[in-house]
Amino acid sequence: MPKTMTPPPGVHFLERGWLSSNNILLVDQDQAVLIDTGYYSHAHQTLDLVKHHLNGRPLAAIINTHLHSDHCGGNAVLQAAFPNATTWVPPGHAAFVRQWDALALGYIGTGQHCPPFISHNSLRVGQEFVVGDHAWQCFAAPGHDPHSFILFSPDTGICITADALWENGFGVVFPEIEGEDGFADVSASLDLIESLKPSVIFPGHGSPFTDVAGALIRARSRLTRFIENPDSHALYAAKVLVKFKLLELQRIERSAFSNWAMTATHLEKLHHAYSRGLSFENWFEFICDDLVRSKAAEIDADYLINA
Ligand SMILES: [Zn+2]
Repeated sequence: MPKTMTPPPGVHFLERGWLSSNNILLVDQDQAVLIDTGYYSHAHQTLDLVKHHLNGRPLAAIINTHLHSDHCGGNAVLQAAFPNATTWVPPGHAAFVRQWDALALGYIGTGQHCPPFISHNSLRVGQEFVVGDHAWQCFAAPGHDPHSFILFSPDTGICITADALWENGFGVVFPEIEGEDGFADVSASLDLIESLKPSVIFPGHGSPFTDVAGALIRARSRLTRFIENPDSHALYAAKVLVKFKLLELQRIERSAFSNWAMTATHLEKLHHAYSRGLSFENWFEFICDDLVRSKAAEIDADYLINA
């Protein structure tokens, strides 16, 4: 298996920032499949990127690894641009998409926005699809999100891991915010990725990487720290949610930001479980100040600014 980060012909890795997930476009002579669509505020940029690489081909399908707003926020714009494309989502979320249940889909918990879209089909564990010369297999990889899928292409060695494995860690373990166990699933999903023996990881955020063994060591050591000290995961989760919103807003008056935080029910749950004896307002200030201490944010008078 070639240990290269240059994708084979017909596989386009569209690296995005942290607000939008990466997008992977698989193309052959007649059709194309897009995996994940980024955050809604970048949807037109996503559309431009996809159109550029489609080079006039139709988009046959959109596949979402999971339905966090930074992975499916561009679905609505892409569906409008490509009305014949079918959209495939993980089965655990399909009914919530049909009813558009923003609470069950997590958008109220995160305080993030995702424009409603239509899902046509559910992915299946073990499902395989072929684009050009490459077959892609679908696997369930819960943990970060209980319904998340990963995709693996045996002949290229590429594994599209979404937020189950990054070069340095993995995404927030959302079930833990809800008081449910998610760490065991994270561990099982890391074992699954290892068992596939991928040669290249296309993560949901960050660049592709080939040191899979090193990434698995770092992810497992991070997981061990979280298991030994769930408080540290809760603090990390709160900081990630706040930093994500700051990435979106770029600059926000601190009192208005506190008002937003009170509407994001995941933050309320994290405060409830790990308040450190602070009121919600003071706990939220502590989280914001922690972002400033780690240089992820700056304060300018009454404003918090993304850094
Ligand atoms: Zn995610």
